[in-house]
Amino acid sequence: MNKQTVVVLGAGYAGLKTVKQLQKKNADLEIILVNKNDYHYESTQLHEVAAGTEPSTKICFNIKDVINESKVTFIQDTVTKIDRDAQVVTLESDKTLNYDYLVVALGFVSETFGIPGVDDFSYPLVNITTAEIARKHLEATLANYQKSQDVRDLSVVVCGAGFTSIEYLGEITNRLPKLAQELNFPEDKVSITCIEAMPTLLPMFSEKLGTYGINVLKKRGVEFKVGTPIKEIKEGAVVYEENGELKEIEANSIIWTTGVKGSPVIGESGFEERRGRVMVESDLTVKDYPNVFMIGDVSAVMDEASGRPFPTTAQIALKQGEYVADAIVAKVNQQSVAPFTFKPLGTVASIGNNAGIGNVLGKEVKGYIGSVMKKNIINKSLLEVGNTKMLMKKGRFDYYH
Ligand code: FAD
Repeated sequence: MNKQTVVVLGAGYAGLKTVKQLQKKNADLEIILVNKNDYHYESTQLHEVAAGTEPSTKICFNIKDVINESKVTFIQDTVTKIDRDAQVVTLESDKTLNYDYLVVALGFVSETFGIPGVDDFSYPLVNITTAEIARKHLEATLANYQKSQDVRDLSVVVCGAGFTSIEYLGEITNRLPKLAQELNFPEDKVSITCIEAMPTLLPMFSEKLGTYGINVLKKRGVEFKVGTPIKEIKEGAVVYEENGELKEIEANSIIWTTGVKGSPVIGESGFEERRGRVMVESDLTVKDYPNVFMIGDVSAVMDEASGRPFPTTAQIALKQGEYVADAIVAKVNQQSVAPFTFKPLGTVASIGNNAGIGNVLGKEVKGYIGSVMKKNIINKSLLEVGNTKMLMKKGRFDYYH
């Protein structure tokens, strides 16, 4: 019998974990991995690159350095379409790939919620390219103040006060004193404002933890506006609503971290989706297509306990990747597959390099301990999608920074 072909789309947490687990299983399969870049990046650390506290090389590694090329064929290309009836994937190069099993793990893009001006005048943090652009823009505007004396060059607005926003604010406030010296701008004239539409900040944490995190940032000079939905982004200004009135904050650096949605390829390929996410079956396949798995940020997995889908995270993406590899091998061997189960281990948000807040295995952590936990999580994921060498090269061991 011919070898069955498994095609994995995307080499983020979900896709790369699938491939690494498939490799381990030593099954008689042809495995093809497609990714638009020749590198994997740790999306959970993009805020560091955007704030310039870590270079992009710290959070990236070459895909070929962590896969076994005798078992996996890597294709660097961009997926443009999936035809699940014909079982064909089309790539930007016009190449097509046939599959017996497909794993779709194409990750996330920025969500603008249809707010005018977001795409034109703000900077999202969704991949290495956008994070690098955000960093260069911020540095250029801060440096420009000396020449322009325009206070907008010293004004930074972070849109949204979710996980990514808080982590970005933590990094940028950590870096500011050094940056002011390097680029010669007055640090005391810099204003950093975070604008959130919802009435509460950091709702994923307890009130006590959330307040602790926000207070750390307030002490570093961040001003928070809460319950103030953003209505428009203009060149050099954010328009928001406060008490029924439209107001503006002028800023030449506007960072867009209000949320993400799944890859547009999902909708463009005709999958039934909501914000780029497909509600998957209990074995992570797409309804009526038992050979098409949808995992990571393009999937929605129902959490029976809360009656809502689990939040999309690297943590669930890694678990899904492992499960799907095992499920494919079981299906090929005509064995039954138990449903996917997931028990979140907790969440930790960093606030710069030396503080953090989170829940780990039901226990709340904050401050320095929070930061140690965060570094351990990063190191663990480097082992899961990379290897020991990658952990030694890119891991976080600066616990006493
Ligand atoms: P990704 O990791 O985004 O991988 C998708 C891959 O597909 C990428 O390599 C991309 O280049 C590739 N790709 C995309 N489109 C195409 C295409 N058309 N063709 C070919 N290749 C393509 N989660 C946590 O659990 N903990 C955290 O602390 C945490 N912090 C975060 C901080 C930030 C700043 C951000 C942005 C996210 C954070 N998350 C965190 C969420 C987490 O990063 C995502 O849930 C996770 O990356 C999803 O994994 P994925 O494999 O689905 O997608």
